[in-house]
Amino acid sequence: MDSYAGYVLRVNLTTKEVKREPLRRDWARDFIGGKGLGYRYLCEDVDPLVDPLSPANEIIFMTGPLSATLVPCTGKCEVITKSPATGTILNCAIGGSLANQLKFAGYDALIITGKAPSPVYLRIKDDDVSFVDAKGLWGKGCHETEEAIRSSEGPFTVACIGPGGENLVPMACITSEFYRQAGRGGVGAVMGSKNLKAIAVSGTGYIGVDDMPGFLDLVYRKMKEETLTDANLWAYTDGTSVLVEASQAAGILPTRNFQDGTFEGFEGISARAVKGARVHKKACFGCPLGCGNYISSKGVFVEGPEYETLALAGSNCGIGDLSAVARFNALCDDLGIDTISAGNTAAFAMELAQRGIADLGLRFGEVDSYLEVPSLIAYRKGIGEDLALGVRHLSSKYGGRKFAMEVKGLEFPGYEPRGSWGMSLAYATSDRGACHMRAWPVADEAYGSLDPFTFEGKAQLVIDGQHRNAVKFSSIVCDFWAISLESLAEILSKALSREMSADDLILTGERIWNLGRLFNVACGMRRKDDTGPDRIFEEPLKTGSAASRMIPREGFEAALSEYYRLRGWDEDGVPTREKVESLGLGELRLGG
Ligand code: SF4
Repeated sequence: MDSYAGYVLRVNLTTKEVKREPLRRDWARDFIGGKGLGYRYLCEDVDPLVDPLSPANEIIFMTGPLSATLVPCTGKCEVITKSPATGTILNCAIGGSLANQLKFAGYDALIITGKAPSPVYLRIKDDDVSFVDAKGLWGKGCHETEEAIRSSEGPFTVACIGPGGENLVPMACITSEFYRQAGRGGVGAVMGSKNLKAIAVSGTGYIGVDDMPGFLDLVYRKMKEETLTDANLWAYTDGTSVLVEASQAAGILPTRNFQDGTFEGFEGISARAVKGARVHKKACFGCPLGCGNYISSKGVFVEGPEYETLALAGSNCGIGDLSAVARFNALCDDLGIDTISAGNTAAFAMELAQRGIADLGLRFGEVDSYLEVPSLIAYRKGIGEDLALGVRHLSSKYGGRKFAMEVKGLEFPGYEPRGSWGMSLAYATSDRGACHMRAWPVADEAYGSLDPFTFEGKAQLVIDGQHRNAVKFSSIVCDFWAISLESLAEILSKALSREMSADDLILTGERIWNLGRLFNVACGMRRKDDTGPDRIFEEPLKTGSAASRMIPREGFEAALSEYYRLRGWDEDGVPTREKVESLGLGELRLGG
């Protein structure tokens, strides 16, 4: 016995076919679960050139081998698809209890394809899978949708889309438990393209392992020694908002569309401000860290805002008022829009106006027009038709390419790379566009002791982070838990009844990373796409610890070449045949 449920649930929304098939154990061995195993299924089933919003694309909800066990910080579910925002492979995590319910219902994965003829939600109660008419829910926000489904179904875990997903907005997210999102890359639009308003899951099963007493002893020990520690305490005491002060001090807090790295109004959106408005805490299933904060501020009640929202929808828009950011956050959550991309898009439009390039009615620091943005985007009303398509589209249509802060069409997260050069490489080489969750060198550079203004050693630092996080997101362990790969290997060995070492996990991380790259290469991604906006190479920051810094383009290109070389990829970023074969990917046929 091991901690997999042992089955995959396949649902075709066009034909209404529902199939329960055994888990591919050979793939589970090579790709673990979550991100890795989801990538493997997607690569088998989906042509890389598929239109992401066509019925042929899949959306996969993946659990991990540790979901629904008592291992702490394993409550997230990974959503895998081809992204409508970037045209790349995409995985995106959603907190809460969805993965656990799927696992208790008996499934390691839920793979959805096709398109329902009219809006439905998918109801899964153990073996009983049905399609429920959702015409009455179409057009409703995420909160009302979840409330309606829970009031008719009872205590199901619901993951749903709002108007953003219904209107195929490429920055649409999926929401669960009201405030938890799979935010990036347009997973909500993929659900919308399938006329799938929600999934509702309830499971009554059990996940066991061979040596349950030994497993529980180990989990208890790891929890005591490696979870409830001073190093992880920030998650409980503050949550991610603690990074506002850290970024301000390091000069990397995105300010007015990344024109600067410090914000004069940072205190208004700081951890202190968030704590002052906090009404209670929230945790994902089985997580003792409980990093979530519910706040109430001037009549707005929301879980968050998280650091990324405070930075991109706060300082980056010139907004230092917590209640305004909280309202923006709440609107995005209900309408089903990613706050990172929405904040960036608003900020880009504000800079267009500041420079007299185009006036879309938005100004830095002006709250009223800023609070219109989520609704304009979700309903694609008026200028919302342009805003909905994000920064890359706006810059192509109106100009401003040099300060369009995106990579591969995905807008920047909240870390100014001119003050932490490794981040520029992490953004450029991320498999889903500009992302802080593949590698996070900022922890060692701007927040740590490494020199942030050099590329020396950064290619390897980024690679190590990408492998480590690929393993964590496949296992599925929250990235906020700083667990060592040795400890993770120990836990997985016990859960899966086979010996695994940290080195095995690193190799698995490399295999997963290369698999994603092969898919992206087949989508046409090459070195030309692994880059960043001109601003980071041509404009020095003005204030703070990174004042006068910009990234030397030659240094960046040399680091990128080193990154490819260390990975065993050619100069254009394509994995070599030897590398592919050494990772056991030689027989892979993308799209089956
Ligand atoms: S640390 Fe936060 S995001 Fe991570 S599992 Fe715990 S509650 Fe969820």
